[in-house]
Amino acid sequence: MDLIIIGSGFGGLGMAFHAARQGQRFLVLERAEDVGGTWRDNIYPGVACDTQSHHYSFSFAPNPDWSRRFAPGPEIHAYLRDTANRFGITRNIRFGCNVTRLRFDMADTLWHVESSRGIFRARTVVSAMGQLTEPAFPALPGLADFAGPVLHTARWDAGFSASGKRIGVIGTGASAIQLVPELAAEAGHLTLFQRSAPWMCPKDDRDFTESEKRRFRRFPLWQRLYRYSIYWSWERSWPEFLDGSRRQKRRSREMLEWLDGQVASPELRRQMTPDYPLGCKRVLLSDTFLPALERPNVDVCTAQIRRVTPGGVELAGGTSIDLDMLALATGFTAQEFLPGLAVIGAEGKELHEVWEEAGGAEGYLGIMVPGFPNFFMMYGPNTNLGHNSIVFMLECQAHFISKAIRRLHRSNKKTIAIDSHEMAGYQQTLQDELARTAWAGNCTSWYKTGSDKITSNWSTTTLGYWLKSRFWPKRLSVD
Ligand code: NAP
Repeated sequence: MDLIIIGSGFGGLGMAFHAARQGQRFLVLERAEDVGGTWRDNIYPGVACDTQSHHYSFSFAPNPDWSRRFAPGPEIHAYLRDTANRFGITRNIRFGCNVTRLRFDMADTLWHVESSRGIFRARTVVSAMGQLTEPAFPALPGLADFAGPVLHTARWDAGFSASGKRIGVIGTGASAIQLVPELAAEAGHLTLFQRSAPWMCPKDDRDFTESEKRRFRRFPLWQRLYRYSIYWSWERSWPEFLDGSRRQKRRSREMLEWLDGQVASPELRRQMTPDYPLGCKRVLLSDTFLPALERPNVDVCTAQIRRVTPGGVELAGGTSIDLDMLALATGFTAQEFLPGLAVIGAEGKELHEVWEEAGGAEGYLGIMVPGFPNFFMMYGPNTNLGHNSIVFMLECQAHFISKAIRRLHRSNKKTIAIDSHEMAGYQQTLQDELARTAWAGNCTSWYKTGSDKITSNWSTTTLGYWLKSRFWPKRLSVD
């Protein structure tokens, strides 16, 4: 193969589109039996996107038929399936193929890709495994002994019915705020266990009217302009994510005023008021979460959970809460990039060991790592965003990688790799920029490792990323 792509979510499919267009011989290896990545795996009630769909979609595959401003999860999954079929990518996908080890062989300058369906060899490899794939389970004593169902949002049981049950939801991140209104409408009682309050703002979600959809269908340019307008409205919000900025202060005030207007109960308002800077954790958009918390069958519990018992949870003060079911909206092991995959580079070093020595994952534009020639990552270290669409970043990455592969093929050379000095300079600038952002603030967040090194997020505007990804780094070795 010229190229092997691991994963068939937004990243893998976006890369496959470019590879197909370039006429490369490529395969996509997918561990599951369907495309879709996070949108295949996350099927909890209420799952939807919090980035507007006309922007949270491929630039090469605009969809005039999105049903809502923020499409529900199953609709996004259907869009990805349709895109894979429409662009002839599906026939290049090997499903049920779990990749466990990559080894670069200097003798034949090929990557040896070990998988549950045998060994493949390819000149170049792109990992598109996502950052938010493996669920994080809370380390709560007694969790394994709980008598009722325990469902993580990323591994939901479609057959579960909340009807009349006493439900406990742990977590108040982006998944929880979508899940809680749905469960609360059916449950006998719902207790939301909150460790820290999220910053929230209105989502302003609504259905598109038939005439709007017709207009998008008939006037593709109109749809493109609409997409750009969403992009720029998100991009303009970047200064809110600079720590201590005037925009951050103003936006914090606006969100607190909105909270006051939404919640009648002073106690609930107090519970839902964040005690850390805006943007430090992901800012959440919802029109339905706060009203759900005011339902008579819903309580918010901010006391620490001491342990889980077979019949419920015991709190730090000794109070017990009886529960029939526990929903874990506790997020992902986002700091473990490329989980379950060993990557052995040109000098025999394993990538995770290299990252451990560096104090956390890093990569040039989150794409390339010195010592790992012809290996590229999508949604790698420091490419997540707090203010814009990840699909935009993935398309920048697919474009950069395609260019690199084309350059390798045209040059008749064997390998392309980023220089370690170039990488060091890049990383220094990146971390200096990140130190000025909201995510460096005092909060717990999946954006950073335990050591406070921010390994998830990009440091500045997406326009900045786009520009960097259009130019070659000064020191790129093609040998
Ligand atoms: P998350 O943002 O990591 O939130 C996890 C929540 O669980 C936090 O509130 C956390 O509390 C809490 N938690 C974790 N361990 C706990 C424990 N032992 N006891 C009590 N509480 C605990 O996870 P997520 O909500 O699944 O979202 C992850 C990311 O997925 C999002 O930031 C977003 O990028 C993506 N996502 C996107 C969408 C979308 O609409 N596009 C939807 C869902 C998810 P602390 O905050 O105090 O740590």
